[in-house]
Amino acid sequence: GSGGTYFGPPDDPKRYTMLEELGTGATATVCRCMKSDGTQFAVKSINLGKLKLQPNYQKVSDKLHREVSILFSLRHPRIVSLFDVVEGRDQLHLVMELVEGGELFDHIVQMGAFTESVARYVFIQIADGLKYIHSQDIVYRDLKPENILVDSKGSRRGLLEIKLSDFGHSKLINDGYSTALTRVGTPQYWAPEVSDPAKAAQGYNQRVDLWSLGVVLYVMLVGAYPFDGIGESIDLQIRKANVTFPNDSRKPSQYAQDLIRALIKARPQERLSIDGCLNHPWITSCGGTLSKII
Ligand code: ADP
Ligand code: MG
Repeated sequence: GSGGTYFGPPDDPKRYTMLEELGTGATATVCRCMKSDGTQFAVKSINLGKLKLQPNYQKVSDKLHREVSILFSLRHPRIVSLFDVVEGRDQLHLVMELVEGGELFDHIVQMGAFTESVARYVFIQIADGLKYIHSQDIVYRDLKPENILVDSKGSRRGLLEIKLSDFGHSKLINDGYSTALTRVGTPQYWAPEVSDPAKAAQGYNQRVDLWSLGVVLYVMLVGAYPFDGIGESIDLQIRKANVTFPNDSRKPSQYAQDLIRALIKARPQERLSIDGCLNHPWITSCGGTLSKII
């Protein structure tokens, strides 16, 4: 982070002071920042100067505008809010809600794997956020624990409150079908129709997120990827969609295994819907709603 740097015109009462770095991703650095009234935010700064030199600048710039307009349009407790956009000479700053608690990814690594009740509590929230995203005709396309932030303010008694962030790969699909494909991100979470270029050319829809949801659940419960490219290539493993579980203490309960397998289905139309997930016995046999679980 570049401590003490300002962004926004100097006469702008809204200008922000950049504080320490919170995280980095493939495309951006995210820092804590503070408004003149002392309120704090997270700012995702995208280096436009560097982007402009790229041959595919137009495409990248379109993607950026998509991320901004999608984030601005979404308002949901399980989704990181975008409050402001400041365009500097070389940087585009997205001023977002500050979520302090790190990436879900780091929590999984730290714990090795989650207990079923911790995973269930997180899973319900992800499903809830995803359901809202899909209701807005948006495909998230980058669901993975690195993009799920833990909100330490809301978390208590070991139950993690989460928010979905990083809509850099999200896409609005009006016709219910998308044909765009950029093979970026983490292949471990790709559905077969994303991973396989021939299939991707035929288009895919919101169901790619359901596959990723299944992979996220597997990762939370087992502490490893279901498809990792060890042995067979990851594309081949994904195409086969054959989920196996370790035969030791990390083996999830029968209901959890069943839910994971219902999501990680090769054929998109066979995947369990989000409502189907929320009505699955792995959720309902343990009390069902969030309020009952807490
Ligand atoms: P990229 O598009 O480069 O992947 P992300 O939007 O995923 O960028 O942000 C990169 C990292 O910055 C995240 O993985 C997370 O650690 C941190 N981060 C992102 N948004 C926030 C936020 N609102 N509050 C706190 N940390 C954040
Ligand atoms: Mg990211």
